[in-house]
Amino acid sequence: MDIKDIPENPYILLTPGPLSTTRTVRGAMLRDWCTWDADYNGIIQDIRRRLVALATASPRYTSVLMQGSGTFCVESVIGSVLPEKGKLLVLVNGVYGARIAQIAERLKIPVSIIDSGETRPCDPQSLEEALRADASVTHVAVVHCETTTGMFNPVLPIGRVAKQFGKTFIVDAMSSFGGIPLDMAEMRADFLISSANKCLQGVPGFGFVIAERTQLEKTAGWARSLSLDLFDQWQTMELHGGKWRFTSPTHVVRAFAQALDELDAEGGIEKRYNRYRNNHKTLVDGMQELGFESLLPESCRSPIITAFRSPQHPAYDFKKFYAALKSRGFVIYPGKVTTVDTFRIGNIGDVFAGDILRLLEAVKESMFW
Ligand SMILES: *Cc1c(COP(=O)(O)O)cnc(C)c1O
Repeated sequence: MDIKDIPENPYILLTPGPLSTTRTVRGAMLRDWCTWDADYNGIIQDIRRRLVALATASPRYTSVLMQGSGTFCVESVIGSVLPEKGKLLVLVNGVYGARIAQIAERLKIPVSIIDSGETRPCDPQSLEEALRADASVTHVAVVHCETTTGMFNPVLPIGRVAKQFGKTFIVDAMSSFGGIPLDMAEMRADFLISSANKCLQGVPGFGFVIAERTQLEKTAGWARSLSLDLFDQWQTMELHGGKWRFTSPTHVVRAFAQALDELDAEGGIEKRYNRYRNNHKTLVDGMQELGFESLLPESCRSPIITAFRSPQHPAYDFKKFYAALKSRGFVIYPGKVTTVDTFRIGNIGDVFAGDILRLLEAVKESMFW
């Protein structure tokens, strides 16, 4: 099929994922695959190797793909890597951190949280105090970029403290992996979770876990779920040349391989990060000129998604603002912060500074209040 025959999207998604993908990524989905054929399984093995290479230069790591959205992968990790007598400590400053704790509660895994509030970064100092006070904690989890606000959490010092106390360290890097340079070994993360449809710019349908091999190896038989058994999924992929245990999202996987090729073509994560940063700066500067204030200070803002305070004008209405922008070709995201009224604009996906400049024009035209 000619690339020009693949339809353009009717509007740009300025959301944290699913996000706007390229025509070529969408076009890669236009054929069927057999799930046990070597052609298809070879793609899986290649993806697994490439994901590890994107996460770290260290050879100590391996990767597992898992069906479902990002939350399924988080649940797979929490439900599979804590032993029966394990206890989880979660650093929370938004919806996604809270969700990790909620998953543990649902699975009846002992869990405690340190909540720094939605507008403050998670704090390594309070982690240290908590670990000193409670020796029963075995695992520490944190969200790298808290998508609720766009907050960047200081994962390096948090990992340092977790390891100083000998804890297994789990990082939800869902909305940062592939868009922000990181090294998992330097982060001291044992399990890092992300998904196909965020900064790697694939379509939704599966996620993945990058794991320190010896940490994963010792979790055999620990899983509290059959379909989300991380160790079993890994063993099957590892021992059967890239096979999934249950039906895999074939078209989504093929599109993801294309998305990884396009990341390479862009020049890798560093280059993509620069594009996202440029999008973010163009957005924040332009919005400021129009009178909008970003919720977080620059020091803890990520270039993934930006939360803006909603205008205080009595005539402002998010639904109307949203509809006005959508009719101009841009879809934005509602706020999720509980204490302040906000809306959010994503900077990631197949989005460039020129798109952001056009968005700013559209925002100007949509300020009906
Ligand atoms: C997107 C996201 C998730 C997963 O959300 P799903 O809707 O299940 O894909 C988890 N954590 C963070 C930080 C995210 O941004």
